[in-house]
Amino acid sequence: MSINKITVLGSGVMGHGIAQVSAMAGYTVTLRDIEQSLLDKAMEKIKWSLNKLVEKQKLSQQDADKIFARITPIVDLKSALKGADLLIEAVPEDMNLKKKVYAEVDNYAEGKTLYASNTSTLPITDMAALTNRPERFIGLHFFNPPQLMPLVEVIPGAKSDQSMVNMAMDYCKKVGKQPVLCKKDVPGFIVNRIFIPLVHEAAYCMDRDGASMTQIDSAVKFKMSFPMGIFELADYTGLDVIHKATVEMHTRDPKVLVPHPKIKQLFDEKNLGQKTGKGFYEYKGDKYERVNLTEQEAATYNPIKLLAVAANNAAWLITNGVCDRAELEKALKLGMGLKKELFVTVQEFGPKNIVKALQDLASKYGQFYQPDTYLVDYYA
Ligand code: NAD
Repeated sequence: MSINKITVLGSGVMGHGIAQVSAMAGYTVTLRDIEQSLLDKAMEKIKWSLNKLVEKQKLSQQDADKIFARITPIVDLKSALKGADLLIEAVPEDMNLKKKVYAEVDNYAEGKTLYASNTSTLPITDMAALTNRPERFIGLHFFNPPQLMPLVEVIPGAKSDQSMVNMAMDYCKKVGKQPVLCKKDVPGFIVNRIFIPLVHEAAYCMDRDGASMTQIDSAVKFKMSFPMGIFELADYTGLDVIHKATVEMHTRDPKVLVPHPKIKQLFDEKNLGQKTGKGFYEYKGDKYERVNLTEQEAATYNPIKLLAVAANNAAWLITNGVCDRAELEKALKLGMGLKKELFVTVQEFGPKNIVKALQDLASKYGQFYQPDTYLVDYYA
């Protein structure tokens, strides 16, 4: 499977970044969107990003120009797909839209074209089944922004050929990313399986423990070795992204999280986080702002329930053969910026205490908190 020409469908937040990293690795790229004005904006963003690299002397102007010239923006789908070895789809997260898009793509794509989707939450197997080549379909989940985030989750669907996994791993390495294989097509894949339920749990901790947002966030940052607080991370990610991921994951399997109404409320109010100036926190300026979190405040709250929920979902992934512990820790480090391995933090808090915290939560709030056998057996 030799990949030379890549077509990226969708030039939004993710698509333009994927097009850029692919062009930087030497691929010939076609970027397709439904309107020329959207493509113009995307090409502007790519130019801006390449200029930044030139300013920082990470790239020469000559190389930046060559990279930019490797990307051709095209609205016409048939022309955009001509000669494509690999299609990377990054259109909005809506199964009905994806269905429509893949039906169109099947009409024009050449027999040799391999399909990859950047979906965060939709089932890869179901999406593959919409196409005329389910065995040559794979999930390629980049993180935002693709230019900076090193992690890509590679998710084979039930029918994906092993050669697709090899192709995806090679492609990721070629574009300078670190792939993690998510062996099963489970809701949330690896990182979102841990992250999304944690946002809900943090909201429950406010209600149940009477703790403030900065108390919880300070504890998450300084005691759980997260790069920032969980509410802060939610605002940074966007409450729209979190709400939609919640709905998709919960619809696929109600056991994966217990939705807290605050997330939907913020989404409905259009308080989406940093980008709208308000989410869990309020932000004053246009520039990215950090919340003031301190070790003093961290000392006033024990985040054991949050750690327990994260560890329990991590354990579920290992028990169910989605990934092993090493791959899990790699994904959390690269995808969420954890500064210390999750299970090292578990060890520090005391595994028995974690299991006990889960048992207490399960007795009060139900099945979701039932400790996974990996935690119970491993630390027995
Ligand atoms: P976006 O809304 O920013 O961009 C999507 C683009 O697709 C838009 O420009 C839209 O005009 C275009 N589009 C719509 N129909 C199209 C068609 N038929 N052909 C080509 N383009 C079409 O969305 P996004 O945030 O870039 O998300 C894209 C995908 O990436 C989704 O599946 C999402 O779940 C996933 N994802 C998003 C993030 C994130 O943080 N935004 C992170 C990882 C993965």
